[in-house]
Amino acid sequence: MRDTAAGPRLLLRRLRELMAEALEPQARLDRIVHHIAQNMVAEVCSLYVLRADSVLELYATEGLNPGSVHLAQLRLGQGLVGTIAASARPLNLPEAQKHPAFAYLPETGEEIYNSFLGVPVLRAGRTLGVLVVQNRTMRQYREDEVEALETTAMVIAEMIATGDLSRLTRPGLELDLSRPVTINGMSFNEGVGLGHVVLHEPRIVVTNLFNEDSDEELRRLETALGSLRLSIDDMLSRREVAFEGEHREVLEAYRMFANDRGWVRRLEEAIRNGLTAEAAVEKVQSDMRARMLHMTDPYLRERMSDFDDLANRLLRMLLGHGPEAMANALPRDAIVVARTMGAAELLDYPREKLRGLVLEDGAVTSHVVIVARAMGIPVTGQMKGAVSMSENGDAIIVDGDDGVIHLRPQSDVEAAYAEKVRFRARRQELYRELRGKPSVTKDGVQIDLMMNAGLAVDLPQLSDSGAAGIGLFRTELQFMVASTFPRAEAQERLYRDVLEAADGKPVTFRTIDIGGDKVLPYFKGVGQEENPALGWRAVRLTLDRPGLRTQMRALLKAAGGRELRVMLPMVTEISEIRQAREIIDREVRHLSRFAHHLPTKLKLGAMIEVPSLMWQLEELMSVVDFVSVGSNDLFQFVTATDRGNTQLAGRFEPISVPFLRLLRQIAEAGNRTGTSVTLCGELAGRPISAMALLGAGYRSISMSPAAIGPVKAMLIELPLERLTRLMNETLDAHSSEADVRAMLHAFAAEHDIPL
Ligand code: PEP
Ligand code: MG
Repeated sequence: MRDTAAGPRLLLRRLRELMAEALEPQARLDRIVHHIAQNMVAEVCSLYVLRADSVLELYATEGLNPGSVHLAQLRLGQGLVGTIAASARPLNLPEAQKHPAFAYLPETGEEIYNSFLGVPVLRAGRTLGVLVVQNRTMRQYREDEVEALETTAMVIAEMIATGDLSRLTRPGLELDLSRPVTINGMSFNEGVGLGHVVLHEPRIVVTNLFNEDSDEELRRLETALGSLRLSIDDMLSRREVAFEGEHREVLEAYRMFANDRGWVRRLEEAIRNGLTAEAAVEKVQSDMRARMLHMTDPYLRERMSDFDDLANRLLRMLLGHGPEAMANALPRDAIVVARTMGAAELLDYPREKLRGLVLEDGAVTSHVVIVARAMGIPVTGQMKGAVSMSENGDAIIVDGDDGVIHLRPQSDVEAAYAEKVRFRARRQELYRELRGKPSVTKDGVQIDLMMNAGLAVDLPQLSDSGAAGIGLFRTELQFMVASTFPRAEAQERLYRDVLEAADGKPVTFRTIDIGGDKVLPYFKGVGQEENPALGWRAVRLTLDRPGLRTQMRALLKAAGGRELRVMLPMVTEISEIRQAREIIDREVRHLSRFAHHLPTKLKLGAMIEVPSLMWQLEELMSVVDFVSVGSNDLFQFVTATDRGNTQLAGRFEPISVPFLRLLRQIAEAGNRTGTSVTLCGELAGRPISAMALLGAGYRSISMSPAAIGPVKAMLIELPLERLTRLMNETLDAHSSEADVRAMLHAFAAEHDIPL
C-alpha cells in the first residue's frame, strides 16, 4: 500500500525548517509556495490573503505571473478564491473554468491550468486567506491531498496571526485579522471598559505543530481521548448531575462526541499527515467552527459548540495545563472574552486586573453575570462571533451601557471612549468626595442610603460607597453561584464575614429567595412549574423545607454577640410570619440549650412584594419589626408584567401616579404604626426614581453600591418639602395620567439638582 502520508510529512518538515530560517517574510512565503507546489506535484501554488477591506490579495505564487503578486485581487465571494473564503470550504475541480464562479484574472496567466484545488486558511474558524494549487491536466485531487493542503494552510494561518505578514501590506491597507469589528449584543452590566483581550480558553497554546513521530502522537491522542471519556463518565456519574435535565444532556452529548468515529478519524488523519496531536485537535476544531459559522439550525449550532468545548478540553488534556497558566501573563487591563464560563472561573481572575467581561452566550441570570455584577465590571452578552474574532492581546472596548463591543477599535472610537471613561472617573472622584458628607437633603432631612449585596466580593464596597449599611443581603446568591447546596458551615462563614466587614453598620439578611427567575440547577422541583413567578418560591419554599431552619441556625450562630436583622421574601399572608417566628424560636431554644453565643437582638422583617399585603398593612406592621418594599417584584405583580421580559421593558412606568400612590400608602402606614420602612428594588438606585421615592415619603432606600454616589449627589441639592408638596398634589389629583417623570425632570432643572 502506498504511504499517502509520506508526502505531507516531508512537506511539513520542510516548512518547519523554513519557519525557523532567518528570512524576510516575502522570501519565506515564496519558498513556502515553491515547496508546496513541488511536494504536491502541482504547477501552481498561490496564497491569497484576506484584507480588512474584504479583498483577497495575491501574496505569493509559484507558477503564476510573478508580476501579479500584490496586484491580483478578488473580492470576498468573487471567483473561486472568493467563494472558498466566503464559504470556508475547499473547492476541488478538474476543470476550473467550468465552475459558475470562475473569474478570469488576465494578469496572472492562469488560463492554461485546468485542475484547481483551493482550501481556506483558517484560524479558530475564521478565514484569513486561501491557498491554491493548480495543474494543467484535468485531475481530481485526492482526499489525502486536500487534507495535506489544509494542514499546510494551518501553518500559514499561524504566520498571518503572529503578524509575520503585516510587514508586506501596502500602506493604508490592513489584513482582515486586524480589522476593527463592532459586535452588538446585550448589556448585562453597565459601565465601560477599555483594555486587551484575554481569551478565557486560550487556543494559541498550540505552538508545536509538527510531529517527529506519528505513532507516538497517535498514542498521545489515544491516551488523551481515553482520559477525556473517563472524565465525562465521571462527571455523569456524580450525584448532582445524575438526575438533571439540561446539564446531563450536555454531558451525554459530550460523551457521544468523544466516541464519534468521524471525529477521531479526522484527528488521526491529521496526525498521520505530520501534525502533533494538539495541532490535529486544533485543525479539526477550526474546520468545524468554520462550518458552524454557516450553519443556521440553532440546535445543530448548539451541538457544534458542545463539540468545540470538548475539543478545548481535549487540548487542555494534551497540553497538561489549565487556564491558570494564563493568569500570570494577564495584562493590567484584562477584558475576558469567553463563550460561556462558570462563576467560580471568573473569581479566579484577579479583580484589580479585570476591566470587563464579554460572553458569546449568557443571560442576565447566568451565575457568572451575577458575580461580575457584584464585582462591578461591565458585562456584555450574546456577542456572536466574539471569541473567533478576537486574539489574545487585541485592543477591545466593552460598552456595557449599550451592549456593544469594539474589537481593535479605530483611534477615533477609542478616543471617544477614553473620554467617556475619564468623565466617569471624574464623576467617581466627585462621589468619593461626597462619601464623607452627611446624607441630608438641602432642607435638612436625614436619608439613609443603604447598599444591596449578596456575595463576599461585594463587601469592600461597603466602605468604598459610603453606604450606611446593607439594606438587602440576598443570601440566595451564594446558592446560585454554587454547584451544590452550600453547607451550613459555609453559610455561617459567609454571614460572619459579612457582619465583620460591616463593622457595626446594620445588615439585613434576606432569607433564601429562590424560585421564579432565580433557579438552582442542582435543585429539583423549582423551575419545572407552569408559572414559576407565581409558584413555589422564596419563603413558601423555605418554610416547607428544612431550608429556613438550617439558614436561621447559621445566621443565629454567625451573629452571636451582635444584632441580627432577618427579612422574609415574598410574604403573602401574616401566617407565614408566624410560622417563621416559630422556626426561629425553636432554633434559638436549641442553640441556647447548647450554650451558643446568641445575637444580642433579633429583628424580623417582611418584604412587601406581593400585593395582598396592601390590605393587611397595619396588621403586618404590628407583627414585624420592619418592612422593606421589593419594588421589582411588587411592580411585576401589581401590573402583571414579567420583570425579565425585555419586550415589555419600555411599556409600563413605575414612576407613575398609581404605583407611587401605592408606595406612598406603605410609607404612611409605616409612619402611623412607627414601623421602619425601606425600599430595596431597582427604583432606589436611579437619581430620578429615588427622588420620586423621597417625595412619596421614603427616608431609607437600598441600592447597588455604585448608585449611592449619584443618588447622594441628587439628594443634597433636593428641597424635599417642596417636592413632597408637589408630589402630594399630583398623587391626590383625580387624574392618574400626569407625567410624573417629566414633572420631576422639570423640578430638578428648576432647582439645579443633578440627575
Ligand atoms: C425586589 O423584588 O424588588 C427585590 C429587591 O428583590 P429581588 O430583586 O431580589 O427579587
Ligand atoms: Mg423580589
